[in-house]
Amino acid sequence: MKNEQAGLYIHIPFCLSKCVYCSFYSIKSVNLIPEYIAALKKEIKYYSNILSSFDSIYIGGGTPSLLSFGQIENIISTVNKYFDIDQKSEITMEVNPGDVSLEYFQAVRKSGINRLNIGVQSFDDKILKFLGRRHSSKEAIAAIEAARQAGFDNLGIDLIYGIHGLSIKSWKNTLQKAVSFSPEHISCYQLSLYDRTPLYKKYSLNGWDLPNENTELRLFLATAEELENAGYIHYEVSNFARKEKLKSQHNRKYWQHTPYLGLGPAAHSFLENKRWWNKAVVKTYLKEIADGKMPVENTETLSAEQLQLEALFLGLRTKAGIDLKRYKTRYGADLLADKKIIIDALIKNKLVELKSGFLRPTRAGMAIADSLALI
Ligand code: SF4
Repeated sequence: MKNEQAGLYIHIPFCLSKCVYCSFYSIKSVNLIPEYIAALKKEIKYYSNILSSFDSIYIGGGTPSLLSFGQIENIISTVNKYFDIDQKSEITMEVNPGDVSLEYFQAVRKSGINRLNIGVQSFDDKILKFLGRRHSSKEAIAAIEAARQAGFDNLGIDLIYGIHGLSIKSWKNTLQKAVSFSPEHISCYQLSLYDRTPLYKKYSLNGWDLPNENTELRLFLATAEELENAGYIHYEVSNFARKEKLKSQHNRKYWQHTPYLGLGPAAHSFLENKRWWNKAVVKTYLKEIADGKMPVENTETLSAEQLQLEALFLGLRTKAGIDLKRYKTRYGADLLADKKIIIDALIKNKLVELKSGFLRPTRAGMAIADSLALI
């Protein structure tokens, strides 16, 4: 089925080493990369008759910057061959600071990448070491400078906070350092501890905890204040953009139930009311594609109630909030009438507000966005 312009996600499931907090699927066997790209190209071709019109592409991982620029170009040209890619598409690639150089950035830019998301995480070497990152703050700075020199005018920087031993002062230093490069986009994620990660074990062994609710709130508010004072728009719980037009086009697809196609192991896709995802293991993925099968692990059909709850959950994480008219058209339900008692209580507690046909979280609401939809 041909469809409205969707988002395309391409997963590169390789990392040279595993960061101690990471729960994403990736493997260290980089020798599989050529075989993997050949399989990915077959998956791209398969979908050309199902979902084929896109206005955003996101190459994420894992570590996409482990690919040579020739491999990146190969993927982009295959995508252009089989899909209809809008000329104004946002085409993002995630990069790890330690892997890149000016020449690399110049080459990937030529292949069509027009936005970079740099996994800086911190400008404090002690914190980078604590997180098990491969790069230093010096390499992070060099990567940002090389990206600018190569002509990238749309840069995103990812940062992590809420880490044991990271004071608010030191976190603000990292934010100020990030701002000094005027990136177009900054994502600030609170550290999560996932079972079975080395960091989880380290926290348990040492009797450490993630920040309690109050500290979490203080960190969240300090982050928002610091970046808003520097001119950034806090448009989603974890995301800040220098201008409206610099908000991530791709991530918006996830937040608004716009169709998206995910390629590669463990990648998720969404169309109308269906979500499906690929098998997570690279070798299984390669085998299924070699056998002429699609590597889909499972598909779920979301009920009207599930879609509505997701829309509520995702919408209340964004500053723009929920467009009530769009909600009615898309989900066939009147949110204000259906949840009147709850919404009235949230408004009374100054957690959400109604403005120009939108139900929006206030700053206090955004701080507890994950639990707002469940109230
Ligand atoms: S580079 Fe990214 S995907 Fe790879 S281990 Fe580190 S956090 Fe996980």
